Amino acid sequence: MMTIPYIGRVKSNFDDPADPNVMRETESEIEIFEVYAEGLFKTELSQYIEVFFQFDRAEPVQLKTFTYTGDYKGIFATRSPRRPSRIANTLVKLLERNGRFLKVKGLDALNGSPVIDIKPVHIPLTDEELEDSEFMVRKMNPRKLIYANIWAGNTQRLLLDAGQIHGHFCTGLAMGVMMAVKAMQWIRGRSDGLEDLLAIVETNNCAADGVQYVTGCTLGNNALIFKDYGKTALTLTRRDGKGIRISARADAKDYIHAAAPLFSASYQKVVGEHSRGDEEISQFKKSGVEKAFALLELDFDKIFKTETVDVRIPPYAPSHESIICEACGEAVMGSRIIEQDGKKLCIPCAGVAGKMLSGDGIGEEDRG
Ligand SMILES: [Zn+2]
Ligand SMILES: [Zn+2]
Repeated sequence: MMTIPYIGRVKSNFDDPADPNVMRETESEIEIFEVYAEGLFKTELSQYIEVFFQFDRAEPVQLKTFTYTGDYKGIFATRSPRRPSRIANTLVKLLERNGRFLKVKGLDALNGSPVIDIKPVHIPLTDEELEDSEFMVRKMNPRKLIYANIWAGNTQRLLLDAGQIHGHFCTGLAMGVMMAVKAMQWIRGRSDGLEDLLAIVETNNCAADGVQYVTGCTLGNNALIFKDYGKTALTLTRRDGKGIRISARADAKDYIHAAAPLFSASYQKVVGEHSRGDEEISQFKKSGVEKAFALLELDFDKIFKTETVDVRIPPYAPSHESIICEACGEAVMGSRIIEQDGKKLCIPCAGVAGKMLSGDGIGEEDRG
């Protein structure tokens, strides 16, 4: 035998046993005793709770009994109160919490019933509701899942997802993911806000895509700055200019080459979790995926050099009004208009060479 403390008491409209279906349609109140009130902290976040209470006025124990619907069954095949423990549990909707008072609907307890325990219940959503809530979450914060993986240091998952924009898995992409996760964690350690981040990459190689995916600083949102230095490096900074620069060590390639084959266990894990049959697995191997995922397990500091830096922050991207080119009629950013013989022309119509970012870095466009 053990003694179970009462944590509260039910206040309902029912002093005498009634049809439980009627009782469940009625609202009642649960008063939690002051000594346990602190335990209600954040209870209101649950939509549904399970209330454990005692049948303190039940008829004597009956191991076989008639149920409300007229069936004759063993007590453990029913929810009848005439059970040895006298313990009842009912799933109820929590309507509101007012201090140590809970207003609930669905409780089939008599007025004054002692309450033993309260537990939150997670009601599984239907597929449709799940999809809706997923959409909602992602509309409000499209990068929520990415952040969760960053803070958890889940580089395997991030690499897997970064592959969606990069198109293949390679050590370069893995290096980008590693640098970006490290840098994001460093920035976050310095303040909560993640707005106004700037990522500076020093070459347009595979790593840049890992950086864009993980940091969310992209070509399109003007938070990615490209410096054409030909180095695998990432500087991540906030607009106060306090940043972190992570760059590949000169001997990183040798270290990776020597160490990577030892780490096929992590590759097995990834393949195992996303196993799709022999054909895919063999392609996985062929395309060097193994090495990319194995890289994530290696000693970060043997691959990268990390330093804090003060960064000169370029001004915000100006918003220029657009002007219509008088030759081709296309709309052009005002700052890119060239005046020739009193005409406003776009760069190709003016016949001059513009700047161009290609696989070879930033250069002058070849006009042939
Ligand atoms: Zn690549
Ligand atoms: Zn034009």
